Amino acid sequence: MIALSLAEIAEVVGGQTHDIPDPSVQVTGPVVRDSREAGPGSLFVAFAGERVDGHDFAAAVVEAGAVAVLGTRPVGVPAIVVDDVQTALGALARHVVRRLGATLVALTGSAGKTSTKDLIAQVLRRKAPTVFTPGSLNNEIGLPLTALSATEETRFLVLEMGARGIGHIRYLTELTPPKIGLVLNVGSAHIGEFGGREQIAQAKGELVESLPAEADGGTAVLNADDPYVRAMASRTKAKVLLFGESGEADVRAENVRLTDTGQPSFRLHTPSGASDVTMRLYGEHHVSNALAAAAVAHELGMSADEIAVALSEAGSLSRWRMEVTERPDGVTVVNDAYNANPESMRAALRALAAMGKGRRTWAVLGKMAELGDEALAEHDAVGRLAVRLNVSKLVAVGGREAAWLQLGAYNEGSWGEESVHVSDAQAAVDLLRSELRPGDVVLVKASRSVGLESVAQALVETG
Ligand code: ATP
Ligand code: MG
Repeated sequence: MIALSLAEIAEVVGGQTHDIPDPSVQVTGPVVRDSREAGPGSLFVAFAGERVDGHDFAAAVVEAGAVAVLGTRPVGVPAIVVDDVQTALGALARHVVRRLGATLVALTGSAGKTSTKDLIAQVLRRKAPTVFTPGSLNNEIGLPLTALSATEETRFLVLEMGARGIGHIRYLTELTPPKIGLVLNVGSAHIGEFGGREQIAQAKGELVESLPAEADGGTAVLNADDPYVRAMASRTKAKVLLFGESGEADVRAENVRLTDTGQPSFRLHTPSGASDVTMRLYGEHHVSNALAAAAVAHELGMSADEIAVALSEAGSLSRWRMEVTERPDGVTVVNDAYNANPESMRAALRALAAMGKGRRTWAVLGKMAELGDEALAEHDAVGRLAVRLNVSKLVAVGGREAAWLQLGAYNEGSWGEESVHVSDAQAAVDLLRSELRPGDVVLVKASRSVGLESVAQALVETG
């Protein structure tokens, strides 16, 4: 963080100082909410959760070197006391980003935010110091904490923004107003909570509504291949830059194909030139993510060649997303158990099919959560797609939704042992341990709540 005195922080957040002998003492960072991360110079933000109350750790963090606690009551050590910690944290982030010399890039979408954020960071940091959301900390607490981790040296601040309803993105853009706003796609993630795709588009589009006008340097980077996103061009005063495979896109991919290992390869076209990309990441959905990252990098002055090299060398920075492990016995385990929705299920199955050419392929799949009325049809469709892609074996794990997956496969013509339904992760592990043969490729994927990473981990350890 940029150094701020306790007096200044108290003023910015509208708080009272308690037990602070010297208000001119500076917080030099980081700002942390986990007491274990507190160290010299840090500010500890005490949230009172249901099970744990951060205030209980006040003495410990000061012992560890923290300068003060930001909380809702005096705690006997230096503290800034406010009514609401989240509001205070937001106000501090807003204050700090105004003083930074960094360009703020924010992105949202239904699927691929973290993957794309990681790509953008890996491209931009070749040009200048870049700070970005760690993992998927994209909400009203993670976002300000990330913004506060930027320093005077930071040139690019890349922020993932998540939304679970109307107004969420607007709130985040008020804390950290972006200059470049990227919308990836409008899919069916959380469709149950939102009520429909129109509502999702309404919510995600708040990002481009928040951008400065073109004359003030605002740029909306929009997916030309997604009609809901494309339509957001009319909701912004910013310049519009389109990416996608469609001919009208400013940043395009041509000759897209998957290599024999399932890695996308294409020719990248930006307004400043063209260059070839072969990605280290797996799955064709990364083409769209890569184009989005390329559009942002182009806007920030990078050449097509620079971008192509960076995209070709970029790895995955976040866990359990198409994480590929080659076992010594020749079994390939693809751990995509971080999360699942219909779009990412389809993308992962296509990647499995490409990686598994001439090999036996297994799709170990579980429920896609929060699909509301579309749940039955979407699970059925995924089961059918697995059969159409010639996946050798489908193992559907869990309750009702797994039964729907299997039923879809059955209805598509998979009647025998090619598709099985097991009740839980342990049953899946037992089955796979006895059935896997050298050369097999296994994809493991379900929504976060299913916790199928335990299956992937067990399989990796078996080898
Ligand atoms: P969350 O809302 O949980 O933060 P996210 O939008 O950050 O999710 P990622 O974590 O990048 O998304 O990816 C989630 C899943 O979607 C992964 O399984 C990933 O392989 C897949 N995925 C990534 N990019 C795309 C894309 N462009 N289209 C469809 N699926 C994608
Ligand atoms: Mg994410």
